[in-house]
Amino acid sequence: MYGLGILKGMGVTLKHFLDTYIEDLRFLGKGKRTDVAFNLRQSGSNQRLGLFTVEYPEEKIAVPERFRFIPFLVINNLDAEEDPGKIWCTSCGICAKVCPPQCIWIVRGTDPETGRPKPEPEEFYIDIDICMNCGLCAEFCPFDAIKMDHDYELASYDRTTHHIFDKARLSKEFRYWRSIAPTISAEEAEARGGWEHKDVLKEKAKAARTADKATGAS
Ligand code: SF4
Ligand code: SF4
Repeated sequence: MYGLGILKGMGVTLKHFLDTYIEDLRFLGKGKRTDVAFNLRQSGSNQRLGLFTVEYPEEKIAVPERFRFIPFLVINNLDAEEDPGKIWCTSCGICAKVCPPQCIWIVRGTDPETGRPKPEPEEFYIDIDICMNCGLCAEFCPFDAIKMDHDYELASYDRTTHHIFDKARLSKEFRYWRSIAPTISAEEAEARGGWEHKDVLKEKAKAARTADKATGAS
């Protein structure tokens, strides 16, 4: 029948309109904007009912796990038993090579005693105004050392000084990565053979072998 589609569409709109008030009644007295209400009603939720306006910046829609903004560097947790705060980056330079707009700058560290390069960056910079959030650096890093962050509130009044992120600003604890990407970090840990960084696992295996040899020799 001519106009049936229009009526159906209006019916859907009316349903959403009424659901808005019916849903509000469910949270009556608890405040319309409790975290539970907010999470239920944002578009990512399959229970979404009614019309919904996000009152940003007081409220923020949760971003999906694979959301990516500016990269960050993973470091060991600051309360880790071994090497607290150790940066996972080995300064291999692959991320800087694959970065399409070339916005990563790395200065490789040098051992002060031997003068030889050490597998750790002395300095690490990302120009976040140039970064196009492609995620290639994180894709290509062979050490799981650089990850895409969820923090998108990076505006400032001075882009000349505030938008070149240095090593200190880029570094975030491993537990942060686990908190924003529980599924991906678990998959990566499984592929590595454990929750710890593969260098730590390697060191542990080496220590165990040395201990075994020492026990065998005695
Ligand atoms: S690819 Fe990974 S390990 Fe290599 S320099 Fe980049 S962040 Fe560091
Ligand atoms: S996300 Fe893309 S553009 Fe940004 S630093 Fe990584 S590789 Fe470069």
